[in-house]
Order: sequence, then structure tokens, then C-alpha cells
Amino acid sequence: VTFAGFDLPAELLAELTRQGVETPFPIQAATLPDALAGRDVLGRGQTGSGKTLAFGLPLLARTAGRRAEARRPLALVLVPTRELAQQVTDALAPYAGALRLRLATVVGGMSIGRQATALRDGAEVLIATPGRLMDLVERKDCRLDRVAVTVLDEADRMADMGFLPQVTELLDLVPQGGQRMLFSATLDRDVDALVERYLQDPAEHSV
Ligand code: AMP
Repeated sequence: VTFAGFDLPAELLAELTRQGVETPFPIQAATLPDALAGRDVLGRGQTGSGKTLAFGLPLLARTAGRRAEARRPLALVLVPTRELAQQVTDALAPYAGALRLRLATVVGGMSIGRQATALRDGAEVLIATPGRLMDLVERKDCRLDRVAVTVLDEADRMADMGFLPQVTELLDLVPQGGQRMLFSATLDRDVDALVERYLQDPAEHSV
């Protein structure tokens, strides 16, 4: 199996080759067709399984060719920690660049002003931790009413860290009918409640 067998934009296939990423990992091969078709996805997998590209490539492919208005991203990745936000940003940046999509990363502990500026300048894809994103929404520096693809990464860790009230508040601002993908190592009661509430007939894949 190669990435060329999936319905990915040529720019992404070229960038995968440039990055030396040739053969899809199992979670990627399993998830890509469903995610590229716009289905909701429930992914059970640990870090190291390749889940970032499993959700990232479809998210970017399905956002390609669209342009965000100021403060209104088109795709959202929620992660529990600053470190993971940076990791996801670094992993997706070359692919976003290949598609001329703008990434913004908003996390706590850093200047909110610069993050607000990035959003005002327009970013198609927003990678965020819940607390800081909530602050930006409350300041009206960000609106989620154009988000069409949403990813919750490491949902179990977000639950463990007490972020679920903020996560649900944010997800309730995202229009219904968009695509949602949730990744989690475990599916305990809190995560299960998120799945029930926000995923519609998800394609379930584990690694
Ligand atoms: P992740 O689980 O998304 O954090 O990915 C774990 C590591 O695997 C990262 O360093 C990725 O760059 C790498 N990786 C992801 N997918 C592939 C692939 N299909 N082929 C080779 N390396 C990959």
C-alpha cells in the first residue's frame, strides 16, 4: 500500500515523498478512506501510531482550496497540552504549506496578542488547547462558526486534565453537520459521552 492509492491532492503526495513518508501506517490506511469521504472517525490509538497524519492529511485535503476570513478558521484541532499542540503543528506544517493553508497555534502560557493577530490575519487551520481557545473566543478574537472539520486528539487526556467542560462549550460553537474525528487511547465514560454527543455514525478504527 502506498499513499498514492488514496484520493489525496497531488501537492500532498509530493510533500509525503519529500518528507520520506512512503508507506501508510495501519491507522492511516484504515482511516484515510473514511476521513477523506467526510465521515466521522473514532480512532483508538497511542502516540507513535501515526495518528497525526491519519487525521491531519484528510483535514488538510478537505480544507484545501478554501480561504478563511479573519478570525474564522475552517478546521480545528483540539489537544490537551502545549507540547502536543507544538508537535501537531510541526508535523502538519509542511503539508499545510504545500497546500498554501495557513496554520495558527494557540496555547496557554504565551502571548495572547500574537495569537489573536495570527487569527485576525486569517488561518484556515487552528491547533489549540481548550483554555486558551476559550479565552480567544470570549475576547471575540476567534469565531468557530465556519469550522467544518474538528479533531479531538488525546480525548482521554483532555478528560483527565479536567478540560471537558471547556471542550463541550467549544464544540457547541462549531456548526452541526461538519466532520468530527476523535482520537483516544482509552474510551472511558467521559470520552464515551463525548463520542455519543458529538460523533455521528463514526467509522471506528484502532491500532
Ligand atoms: P504520531 O503517532 O502521529 O505522533 O507519529 C509518530 C511518528 O511516526 C512521527 O515521527 C511521524 O513523523 C512518523 N510517521 C507517521 N506516519 C508515518 C509513515 N506513514 N511513515 C513513516 N513515518 C511516519
